[in-house]
This record gives sequence, C-alpha cells and structure tokens, in this order.
Amino acid sequence: MNEPETSMKTACGSPVSESAGSAPAIEVRNLSRWFPGVHAVRDISFTVEPGQVIGFVGANGAGKTTTMRILATLDHPSSGEAFVCGHNVVTHPAEVRRCIGWMPDHYGTYGHMTVLEYLDFFARALGFGGEERIERIAEVMEFTDLTGLADRLIDALSKGMGQRLCLGRALLHDPEVLILDEPAAGLDPKARVELKHLIRLLAQEGKTVLISSHILSELGEMCDSLLFINQGRVIHHGSAESLRRGNSAASLIEVQITGSVAKLSAWATLSPHVTFREATKSGGRIEIDSVEPAVIASVLRRMIDDGIAVTDFHLQERKLEDAFIEILGEIEASGSPFVS
Ligand code: ATP
Repeated sequence: MNEPETSMKTACGSPVSESAGSAPAIEVRNLSRWFPGVHAVRDISFTVEPGQVIGFVGANGAGKTTTMRILATLDHPSSGEAFVCGHNVVTHPAEVRRCIGWMPDHYGTYGHMTVLEYLDFFARALGFGGEERIERIAEVMEFTDLTGLADRLIDALSKGMGQRLCLGRALLHDPEVLILDEPAAGLDPKARVELKHLIRLLAQEGKTVLISSHILSELGEMCDSLLFINQGRVIHHGSAESLRRGNSAASLIEVQITGSVAKLSAWATLSPHVTFREATKSGGRIEIDSVEPAVIASVLRRMIDDGIAVTDFHLQERKLEDAFIEILGEIEASGSPFVS
C-alpha cells in the first residue's frame, strides 16, 4: 500500500487526508448481488455526500452486509456499479481501500496480541513506518480511549473495548469514508454511549460514515439520514426527522391536564379541527387535522380559553421503529417494492 497522506491535525489528533474532490463519498447504481438461490441485493441505488452520517437499517438478511462488503471491495456485484470517493469498487479497488475504513460485524480474534501489538501490526501493513507509525498509533489509541489498555491482551478486552479497538484499526490510515457493520451489536448501554460519542466526533471531523444497525432510535440521533433496506431493496431514504413526522397531514398532540380527562374528550368533540384519540393517565391524545403551526397554536389557545387546565401540550413524534414498520406495511399493502 502507498504511504498514507498526512497534512494538518484534526481535533482527535489524526491527520486529515486530501479530499477526493466533488464526487459523492459513496454512490451505488442499480447494484445487485445474487448467490445460488438467494437474491441478496436487488437493484439498489443511493448516494451519500461527503461528511454525511447514514444509517443503514434492515432486518436480518435484508442485504446490509452484502452491500457493505461490496463497498469495502471484499465482494463483487452481480450487476450494477458502486463508487467510493469517485473510485469504482471493481475496477479501482486499491484506490477505494485507501479511502475507506471498514469495520466488519465480526473481527478476527487475535487474542494473544496486546492492543498495541495489534494496532502496530496493522499500521505496518498499511505502510506506516518509524516515528510516523508510533505517532499515528498513539493518536488512534487516544481517540478511541485505549491508551491505558495498550498492554492488555485482546482476549481480556470487554466487548466495548474490542469494538473501539476495531474502530481504531479502521481509522489508522485516516480514511475519508467509514463503513461500520453493526458496531453497536452486543454492547452494553455505557459502551453504546461511548461508541456514539466517537461517531459524533468523526462526523464533526467531516468523515462520511455508513453505519448499519438494528437499533433505530440510536441511529436517529447520530445520522443525517436513514436508508431502509428490505429483502435486498432500498425502500426508503430520508432524514430521521421526516420519518418521525411521517406523511400525515394531521398532528398528534399529547395533552396533560389537571382535572377530568372526560372534560378534555367532551371539549374535543365540540371543537373544530380536533378529534380525541385516546385517554392517557393524566390527559389524552388529540389529533388536529393540520400540521400548520398557526392552527395548532389556535387549538391550544381555545383549549385554555375554554377552561381546560393544560400542564403540557406537545407534538407526538412517531418512533422510528413505528415508521419502519409503517413503511413495510405500505409496501405490503401496495404490492409495490417501493414507497415514494
Ligand atoms: P444481518 O442483519 O443478519 O447481518 P444483513 O442485512 O446484513 O443481515 P446479508 O448478510 O447481506 O444481510 O445477507 C443477505 C442475504 O444474502 C441473506 O439471505 C444471506 O443468507 C445471503 N447471503 C449473504 N452472503 C451469502 C453467501 N456468501 N452465500 C450465500 N448467501 C449469502
């Protein structure tokens, strides 16, 4: 491999390589991959702009790993094309490897090595030498909070530490694009928070991150957009915010009140634009037949004017899991593999 490019230092102390210009960070065009008896990926297309963090979401067997492996140059498409930093993954794999960091869902077990030996081994394989190698490993260990564990055997690492080590290995050559396959799988809540923090830092440095996970709520917090894949097909690509809002032309509002829920229900029955949906412990959910802020505000004003003692009034967002299930339901109902 070529010597990695280094220039200025970033917040985490890692060197920043030159940008690949104006090409999308990832571009997938009509990509398909079939194995004997299995159509794992079916004609998918999507683009990821530099600096974006994209969540890749789908059930077991949906085609996430297959797509990511093709992007990481570890497998070939059956048809279609994929580009990373403008380089074709089939015709220019070496260029692609230079600009990606790949973190597989399972990393090799090198239990007999220490953290430092492991990173040193891969840094040498990447072509780092002398002082530069020592510096780079130190930076990566600092970024992934492994400095204090340099001499610990990999066998003795917790799952979270192991995942940080695997991420550190993927960062050694300071790639522009990171492809992380289920990095949070099996982590406890604390290790998840740590991992999320690292991904946020990488995003702040302008890295492009494609990250697969089943944990939608976590992806929503850290991703610019979510790419849903089902049975090998991309069924939705949009921001977490737009998914939470949905396509509905109505607003679901959670209202907390002091006093009788029956009063809120009776009031809603008599109020234009409002439907009482269900009672909750100390209030209810009402639906307003508009998403216009002015209409929502006028409903609240009327509620107060009419003597309902409101203590909380907020828009209820759909959970991302619900959005995903809803999109799957729409697909089944329409008989079409896509949702517009
Ligand atoms: P998971 O969340 O369980 O990791 P995934 O979305 O990553 O699932 P893939 O691993 O891409 O899904 O698998 C997609 C489909 O392709 C599955 O039906 C899988 O069994 C099949 N598949 C993947 N790799 C191969 C292979 N090398 N040979 C045969 N079938 C394969």
